[in-house]
Amino acid sequence: MNVDGLKVAVIGAGIGGLAAALALRARGAEVLVLEQADAIREVGAGIQVSPNGMKVLAGLDLAGALRARTVQGRAVVLCDFDGAEVLRMDLTRQTDAKDYRFVHRADLVDLLAEAARARGVKIRLLQKAEGVLPGRPARIALCHGDHVDADLVVGADGLHSVLRPVLNGASRPFFTGQVAWRAVVPNVVDHPPEARVHMGPGRHMVSYPLRDGAVVNLVAVEERRDWAEEGWTHDDDAANLLRAFSGFRGDAERLLKKVERPGLWGLYRHPVAEHWHAEGVALLGDAAHPTLPFLAQGANMALEDAWALATAVGARGLDGLALYHSWRRERVARVIAAANGNAWKYHLRNPLVRAVAHLGLGIVGRVAPGAMLKSFDWIYGFDVRRLG
Ligand SMILES: Cc1cc2nc3c(=O)[nH]c(=O)nc-3n(C[C@H](O)[C@H](O)[C@H](O)COP(=O)(O)OP(=O)(O)OC[C@H]3O[C@@H](n4cnc5c(N)ncnc54)[C@H](O)[C@@H]3O)c2cc1C
Repeated sequence: MNVDGLKVAVIGAGIGGLAAALALRARGAEVLVLEQADAIREVGAGIQVSPNGMKVLAGLDLAGALRARTVQGRAVVLCDFDGAEVLRMDLTRQTDAKDYRFVHRADLVDLLAEAARARGVKIRLLQKAEGVLPGRPARIALCHGDHVDADLVVGADGLHSVLRPVLNGASRPFFTGQVAWRAVVPNVVDHPPEARVHMGPGRHMVSYPLRDGAVVNLVAVEERRDWAEEGWTHDDDAANLLRAFSGFRGDAERLLKKVERPGLWGLYRHPVAEHWHAEGVALLGDAAHPTLPFLAQGANMALEDAWALATAVGARGLDGLALYHSWRRERVARVIAAANGNAWKYHLRNPLVRAVAHLGLGIVGRVAPGAMLKSFDWIYGFDVRRLG
């Protein structure tokens, strides 16, 4: 079914907001995206788009264009911080895991924004939403005193969403006890097309190549008791990163030495929102369920949400919002729980426990090489386009 003429206003031109705009536009809605920033931009870092996310991009007719700008991930490899390989999961062995991509965030968001504009989505910059009033129509209050009315307002405005507290009551995001440095560095180690997770006590670093392998994306995560900074992100001194990861050896060490000015993020979260919708309004992506990045699924979940929302509204009009929530709540809760669980698995501190755990993983990897990857089938094999 299409929703010709339905007026939709999306708050936020991130990956989730732009994907929702495209999916709703494809069903005939008139879509306006309101973005607070003066330009559509993402942090200068990479993102892993897994096969479940690629299926959404295929549904939006953008998978081919994205593949051309990405590196195909051939494996996920767990390593000890001394450089020794612990477990290799070969993504090329299983059909469901094959379309795994390493993407520069700017390339993904540019592709989505270009397609949205070309297909008739209006995008307005410097439009900070200050509040949302559900109803028929729903109303967005903007910071410069203006307002926008729409049949459907989509809150795709991330961790500090203005719609989330309207539906769930005010609450501040909580610090998860983890910080992450992010940087893109020259590929001085001839990094193969694989994601490597270098695991150390209380910290880990993920590396993977981007843009034809010319550069490598680094995400280095450290456990911390508190986050004393004013904001949740700032530029940091590379010396702090090197100090925190001083025991790391091999390629990890060589890559870390190339970092010049990393960004540092305090990783904050909310619980998965209990209420995702009310009359004429719906949440998606990080606005509904911010997640730790330890399963690389936050943006993939936002893509799936976007498709599910458009499918539910396409099928039932605005009455489809409850259906959308029912399709999504269990899956995102399960993914987020799995991501939380990876934190302690990567960060084992007790040397004996680490040795036993890594030995066990190594044996599984040798005896049943496909078994670990198979345990991710429920994530990567999921095709949100089959809903409805
Ligand atoms: C270190 C790290 C690594 C990660 N790696 C991966 C990965 O490999 N794979 C993966 O799938 N996920 C990953 N994630 C998670 C992923 O980045 C997020 O889940 C995803 O970006 C969420 O997209 P979103 O569109 O919901 O929100 P956001 O990306 O936060 O976008 C929100 C948009 O809304 C705008 N906005 C906010 N408030 C307002 C307002 N009041 N008015 C107007 N506009 C507003 C913002 O400017 C922004 O453009 C990672 C996260 C981190 C921190």
